[in-house]
Amino acid sequence: MDLALIPGVTIRINESDNVVIVIKPEGLKKQEPWSGNKMALEHVPMGHKLACLNIEQGDPIIRYGVTIGFAKVSIKAGAWVSNSKISMPEPPSLKNLPQPGTELYTAEPLTGYNFEGYRNKNGSVGTRNVLGIATSVHCVAGLAGHLATLVKKELLQKYPNVDDVVPINHTYGCGVAIESPLAQIPVRTLRNIIDNPNFGNQVMILGLGCEKLRPEQLIGEVNSNQSQILYMQDTDNRGFSEILEAGLKMAEEHLSRLNHRKRETCPASKLVVGMQCGGSDGLSGITGNPVAGFASDLIVRAGGSVLFSEVTEVRDAAHVLAPRMTDKDVLDRFVGELKWYDDYLASGGADRSANTTPGNQKGGLSNVVEKALGSVVKSGTSPIVDVISPGEKVKKQGLSFVATPASDFICGTLQVAAGMNTHVFVTGRGTPYGLAMLPVVKVSTNSVLSKRWHDLIDIDAGEVALGLKTVEQKGWELFKYILDVASGKKQVACDRLKLHNDLVLFNPGPVT
Ligand code: CA
Repeated sequence: MDLALIPGVTIRINESDNVVIVIKPEGLKKQEPWSGNKMALEHVPMGHKLACLNIEQGDPIIRYGVTIGFAKVSIKAGAWVSNSKISMPEPPSLKNLPQPGTELYTAEPLTGYNFEGYRNKNGSVGTRNVLGIATSVHCVAGLAGHLATLVKKELLQKYPNVDDVVPINHTYGCGVAIESPLAQIPVRTLRNIIDNPNFGNQVMILGLGCEKLRPEQLIGEVNSNQSQILYMQDTDNRGFSEILEAGLKMAEEHLSRLNHRKRETCPASKLVVGMQCGGSDGLSGITGNPVAGFASDLIVRAGGSVLFSEVTEVRDAAHVLAPRMTDKDVLDRFVGELKWYDDYLASGGADRSANTTPGNQKGGLSNVVEKALGSVVKSGTSPIVDVISPGEKVKKQGLSFVATPASDFICGTLQVAAGMNTHVFVTGRGTPYGLAMLPVVKVSTNSVLSKRWHDLIDIDAGEVALGLKTVEQKGWELFKYILDVASGKKQVACDRLKLHNDLVLFNPGPVT
């Protein structure tokens, strides 16, 4: 049915939808027209849903052409479909998902796009040249921070090719049940963070000496010959000043090796871009995530790798993703990760409804079903070639699902471990999220946010809702911006402002 919607006021995503989304920045006022001479029956805020047809009690609420819930009460056309009027459907069963390989869309390869990166011996490419100072246990976090500050102050200027010094702190290592099978997750995460391409195989590790997690467990084979572990309890060092001196000496060796790294022209196929969203709103699935998805397809077409994640935000879209999996093995591993997470939530007395925050709901997202359907759009349309367990490294070029919690910091940390060298973060409510070791490009879903946070947002996808730009135009803009920040030619907002979050390990295992 053609609704003759008024441009710039509301948008309908799928022609079978019985709701439209208000895109007008100030919302839709009571008695304001949204279609022809049909008036809104009440005020509906930006990003929220307005019934475009009469909906009876018990009827499905349809957005994206998919049922996102059921009407608890009758809702008249023109009324606000607020969260309290919707009940959540059951998640799709993992037992009879659609067949894999039935929706494999492959586009023309994209050639001729490059960036200036730091090549590593193992074939990976860094987008920065960073000295990482890792820790095996939280006891030495203070030392890592102190040392990083001192190295920056006293040594960094002697090594002009090194961009930064970053402590890799975490709260793991002490009092953990290190033999538990679940301990594999945080341990391999740390090991693979140390192997992130931006650290150029030169991370030094600070240990205490008595911790459960041994620093030796964190060293990859490539690095095993180098002196890179400093134990704070080493009896050779007397007092904090001698410990710092030993740290500075070790840092200098690592800096001198890192200083040999120089930016070289690398094909876009060396990009490993992690897609994430946080602080989502009702426009995320219309503007920010489709723009990220378009850029994701461009990266895949250029031979690069894209990671998408956030298990609780794909769980309700499993049936949409299954046909895009390249084969049964990939689908089986996908189902395995989702099942593991269902059980993990259940063991904590929670379920997927624990996702969606008060901010999400205020921004128009009624429940995790609606959030998930908008969230997975940032994976674009490419085939899903692999599924990666939390803390593991990405193995294939193309689009991989990296199973992580949706928590911004835990997801980002696991994507760093997977080998991400550039991050795209879509937000509607606004977050200052940033990571010190790689560029995080922040995309806003609405222009209200990007105007208010003019110096915190890099790309305004809200222009799509206002009809100023198409998804394709903004997708290309984001793709080219990614190449520029990966080359060090442009600086993202969170780096300019030095807004960087801590890494947060995912530890589902027991602590003693
Ligand atoms: Ca997130």
